[in-house]
Amino acid sequence: MAALTLDHVTKRFQDGTDEIVAVDDVSIEVADGEFLVLVGPSGCGKSTTLRMIAGLETTTEGSIFLDDEPIAHRPPQRRDVAMVFQSYALYPHMTVRENMAFGLEESTSMPDDRIRETVEETAQMLDISELLDRKPGELSGGQQQRVALGRAIVRDPQAFLMDEPLSNLDAKLRSEMRTELQRLQHDLDVTTIYVTHDQTEAMTMGDRIAILDGGRLQQVATPLECYHQPANLFVAGFIGEPSMNVFDVTYDPADGKLVGDTIEYPLSQSVRDDIGDRTDLVLGVRPEDVRIVGGREDRLDSNPAHEFDVTVDVVEPMGDQNTVYVTLGHHSFAAVIPGLQSITEGVTETVHLPESAIHLFDARTGEAIH
Ligand code: ATP
Repeated sequence: MAALTLDHVTKRFQDGTDEIVAVDDVSIEVADGEFLVLVGPSGCGKSTTLRMIAGLETTTEGSIFLDDEPIAHRPPQRRDVAMVFQSYALYPHMTVRENMAFGLEESTSMPDDRIRETVEETAQMLDISELLDRKPGELSGGQQQRVALGRAIVRDPQAFLMDEPLSNLDAKLRSEMRTELQRLQHDLDVTTIYVTHDQTEAMTMGDRIAILDGGRLQQVATPLECYHQPANLFVAGFIGEPSMNVFDVTYDPADGKLVGDTIEYPLSQSVRDDIGDRTDLVLGVRPEDVRIVGGREDRLDSNPAHEFDVTVDVVEPMGDQNTVYVTLGHHSFAAVIPGLQSITEGVTETVHLPESAIHLFDARTGEAIH
């Protein structure tokens, strides 16, 4: 296995007279054995990044290393990485056994009986031994997915590159395969870059996640760091479901308050220190941190200066929790509250936005400042 490093990698495509910067000066170090998830919205440059590592796309600038070896100029078959595609890319006329053996026959001098053994061992690991003599057309989506994985595993590569490998599966199978893939990756201890646009997949699978937007890297950190300490407004909005609530505010240093058109929010000294001399800010509060305060008990650790009267618009019951959409003036935002807390649509309630849970961003740059 090996560490995988992207060093100032850029990819530009020429589209007629237009130049598209698909990947813009991206540097990431993936540790040996690490599971890194590359996530971001459609068109942010995830697949292009992966394809450059695999050698299916050239880099315009920058270097790619496996340990200390630069690989960006090697042809795909000499990179010692194995890619698993969303479409599985199995050969329809070959059996599962032939599909899995194909890469080994092409790229190694392994004797036939050793190839057979490797394929059978891997098939056993993936619980597809009984499918070895079938063709891809005779398999379910989930089974084809396993064969595609098996084909990558038999090659015993230095790194796995996975491009949305679970997105063609139904929700239940997808969640089962998520767990299984994590277990496999852990057992095999192979450095892995896994591309997805699904933030739940990123949060649950990655040792760390790298978030891309518009070809630029926004943050590389553990899932919990991205959730609790988003580097900027984009990450704050992308990670977390429902998204973080945001309010445009101005900081008034004379009163030590944030002032928006529907909100006035006094700040303690430590938060004011982080703001410094900035004035145009965005206040963020995760829906999970918004509390709807009812009885006296709820108010014990509430601060009246951070309470606001809101109108309840919609209650979405989810069983263990409810998502509640409320309006403050003309500003609508979400709260996630315990399922047992009963809330009625159309009534006025009081919400508490605890200061310990607030995020502040510079409105001009989007950078997190608190
Ligand atoms: P998705 O999740 O939709 O697959 P993505 O994040 O993987 O998106 P890419 O496929 O890497 O995004 O594309 C990044 C940008 O580069 C997009 O604007 C895309 O249109 C552009 N692009 C990708 N391949 C080419 C190409 N061969 N020629 C021109 N532009 C391209």
